Amino acid sequence: MGLRLRGSTRRPDRISPDPPLPSETHHLDFSLTDAQREVQRTARAFAEREILPRIGELDAAAQYDRGLYEKMGAAGFLGLPIPERYGGSGMDYIAFALLCEEMERADTAFRVILSVHTGLNSLTLLQWANEEQKERYLVPQARGEKLATFGLTEPGVGSDAANLSSTARRDGDRYILNGSKVWISLADTADHFLVFATVDRSKGHRGITAFIVERGFTGFSTESLHGKLGVRAGNTGILYLSDCEVPVANRVGEEGEGFTIAMSAIDQGRYTVAAGSVGLAQACLDASLKYAHERKTFGDEIGRHQLVKEMLARMHAGLEAGRLLVFKAGTRKNAGERSTRETSLAKWFCTDHAVGSALDAIQIHGAYGYSNEYPVERYLRNSKGSVIYEGTSQIHTLLQADYLLGYRRDHPLRKPQPPFEGEM
Ligand SMILES: Cc1cc2nc3c(=O)[nH]c(=O)nc-3n(C[C@H](O)[C@H](O)[C@H](O)COP(=O)(O)OP(=O)(O)OC[C@H]3O[C@@H](n4cnc5c(N)ncnc54)[C@H](O)[C@@H]3O)c2cc1C
Repeated sequence: MGLRLRGSTRRPDRISPDPPLPSETHHLDFSLTDAQREVQRTARAFAEREILPRIGELDAAAQYDRGLYEKMGAAGFLGLPIPERYGGSGMDYIAFALLCEEMERADTAFRVILSVHTGLNSLTLLQWANEEQKERYLVPQARGEKLATFGLTEPGVGSDAANLSSTARRDGDRYILNGSKVWISLADTADHFLVFATVDRSKGHRGITAFIVERGFTGFSTESLHGKLGVRAGNTGILYLSDCEVPVANRVGEEGEGFTIAMSAIDQGRYTVAAGSVGLAQACLDASLKYAHERKTFGDEIGRHQLVKEMLARMHAGLEAGRLLVFKAGTRKNAGERSTRETSLAKWFCTDHAVGSALDAIQIHGAYGYSNEYPVERYLRNSKGSVIYEGTSQIHTLLQADYLLGYRRDHPLRKPQPPFEGEM
């Protein structure tokens, strides 16, 4: 039986690709371990004690407070997923997601530091740096004694990072770097910078090389950017490389390996952004549920109106789905499996949902949501950055379609992301 005509040469259509293999469907236990719950509790308590009482004032004044980052370091947050032998807390990627969620639930600026310091920089050093570099840079970063960030974007290139124009010229036992990096989180306060420059522009992305730059290196300076829409309680700025002298010992990986290193760093950064956006969406829902009970119209609390219920239900559905996408990517990371595809999907979905949730939250708050009397306007301003950095929503849309169409496949890396080493 079938729909094929006799003698037809047309091949039957495939209904769907093969179902996922068992190895892709394991770990379907959604319960958190005691250690993961402890991270969640500690992070929430930290946010309530240290961040929430001050966030309105810091955001309004567009001021960052390095002291709060240092407290996060002292609490073990900045090295949470780094193994203990490198100064970290040795926790797994799900615990790390919960930490990002709780920090962004309070304010995006405190997840951003986890993205750049821990995700884009420290986890990248763990994967790609040599032992000497790990001792010198990763250990103090994981302990929270030094702050670190990541400089890829330039005035002329963002999404198209393979086309960057900062240059690195070898000169004996050092490189001379020239160019500038813009929109760099923590630019004016970080101590260590993972920056990318090309040793040969004619080689395209194969010329890009990664370097660790310290504040204080000859030819290196920074400046803050002002007038941002959101993340006002965080620092964002510019890095200037003017004949900046970087020892050869500070090159991470091989010459020409920098683009691969940057993309694997972004796999970690995107994970933190996705997890943080779940926290932002949660904050939107929390504020909206509270307000839906408090505010009365037409003789009843607004939560009783079906169209308000619709917004709340939609916020909840996306939140649950997004959290599961993050946990799926985190589970692969725990196993040391490449998660570029899963992380991109989680980042795209969670950040878009956070923007939608913030818009709904303002709508539920009516005119009051339109003012800074309630936090929801800050949530909207903060949510918008996340659909721009670490791959815009358009770039993730294209990536996901390319995976589906078979135009994109991930290959094993020379240095794979290390798996979580502890017991689950
Ligand atoms: C608050 C904040 C913090 C940041 N922190 C850092 C940091 O710490 N380190 C760092 O290196 N960078 C950082 N960035 C920069 C960020 O990574 C870039 O802004 C991002 O990569 C997008 O690049 P762009 O802004 O140059 O946009 P562009 O690449 O110029 O894109 C402009 C528009 O065109 C669209 N577009 C581009 N190419 C395509 C395409 N092929 N198909 C369809 N649409 C396309 C984009 O989606 C976007 O809508 C930060 C940015 C912000 C806002």
